Amino acid sequence: MALPEAEHIWYDGKLVKWHEATTHVLTHSLHYGNAVFEGVRAYMTPKGLAILCLEAHTKRLFESAKACGITIPFTAEQINQAHIDLLKSNTYTDNVYIRPLVFLGYGKMGVSHIGCPVNVAIAAWQWGAYMGEEALQNGIKVKIASWMKPAPFSMMSKAKASANYFNSQMANYEAHEAGCDEALLLDPQGFIAEGSGECFFIVKDGVIITPPNDTSLESITQKNVIQIAKDLGYTVLRQRITRDEAYNADEAFFTGTAAEVTINYVITDAQNNRKMVCVDPHDIPVVAFVDPDMMASMPKGLTAATGMDALTHAIEGYITKGAWELSDMFHIKAIEVIAKSLRGAVKNEKDGRDGMALGQYIAGMGFSNVGLGIVHSMAHPLGALYDTPHGIANAIILPTVMEYNAPATGEKYRDIAKAMGVEGVDAMTLEDARKAAIEAVKQLSVDVGIPADLKEIVKAEDVDFLSQSAFDDACRPGNPRDTSVEEIKELYLKLM
Ligand SMILES: [Zn+2]
Repeated sequence: MALPEAEHIWYDGKLVKWHEATTHVLTHSLHYGNAVFEGVRAYMTPKGLAILCLEAHTKRLFESAKACGITIPFTAEQINQAHIDLLKSNTYTDNVYIRPLVFLGYGKMGVSHIGCPVNVAIAAWQWGAYMGEEALQNGIKVKIASWMKPAPFSMMSKAKASANYFNSQMANYEAHEAGCDEALLLDPQGFIAEGSGECFFIVKDGVIITPPNDTSLESITQKNVIQIAKDLGYTVLRQRITRDEAYNADEAFFTGTAAEVTINYVITDAQNNRKMVCVDPHDIPVVAFVDPDMMASMPKGLTAATGMDALTHAIEGYITKGAWELSDMFHIKAIEVIAKSLRGAVKNEKDGRDGMALGQYIAGMGFSNVGLGIVHSMAHPLGALYDTPHGIANAIILPTVMEYNAPATGEKYRDIAKAMGVEGVDAMTLEDARKAAIEAVKQLSVDVGIPADLKEIVKAEDVDFLSQSAFDDACRPGNPRDTSVEEIKELYLKLM
């Protein structure tokens, strides 16, 4: 990715032309690695660029420098002003990433840095999502690094020191070589410390957990996320996270100024018993563990539930109003792969696990582009009100809603039946093909142990509330057949 250049760089107190911000090859930091830096973001607002937490970043820059034995020859106020002057001197049309760097300059060689000149540069350029827009939409693959974070007696881990990033760089490199997008580094005791350039969070049973900064950077974004989450009423724990806790987390996400915060596909409002679906790209998880080995220890029931959820994504995505050729391509393949793999995955067979990882991923690529339908709308309030696992709720509701939606789906159920492995579908009447598709879904559901109805889950007195919630749900407008609160109520009643 080419660096999007700007006109000027702030360099030792002056604004110089972008290509003139250079240094000598005998620059001390280039040889011995002692430099500190920051990563700051400025967001384009209607009133122009606004820098996020500038003072906090500058403060950390000075603390990093102090920890590394460097005296910055400017005051914090001067550095803050330099950020502003720099942004004003350049032309930007979008969000900007700002990189202040403090390094030891030219004039002295040898390991000792005593007496070295100190240089300060600040550059700023337009930079999109750190891991790409696709990562925001679909999540990324993460690998536990074989490298560990340096122990507190080995490095200044809290300082944003360039030297610390060598460790990150190697971990990140290793992850990429292994076909993953990012690395997760363990601390010397074997607990998860952070990503190669981001903080790590998990969500488990509604509680947000992030490790203490014993061996990781004191992150400003991490602090902000914790504050926002607390303000929203979430419990946030700073405690060590083990690998298995990460594997079994309900959600996992990275934050950092560069990685940004990309979380929460569904938010539960416990007070009002609502699950809200967020369709803003910034609200879709950036991290999805799709490594089948990680799912090997997943219990049967959860495998069945998440698998049926993925099948629901594929089927709802295939027939949703916004579906088109490209999304169809993903969804029909996902249905085929899931139908073939789910039974095996529930038995913990390797092929089944591999297939499900792939099927879930492909379905995600499809539906995140076009939306879903009322199976999800009806499942969300069950999760909010009764804590019914999302996949189980979907799986129970899916066949009944498929029957209801059938008249609005043209030939699509014929494709679904075929993808589900039903034989002789081409020779069937449309009505029979539709029935065959629904039967195939029901059979799969039975085979993986999903309950047949909502009798054990829904209380009669809640049906009106559930129906209204489902109607208000963000997935409802995507449903192929236009619906009403009354019709949704009938569907719930049919399942009871
Ligand atoms: Zn779902």
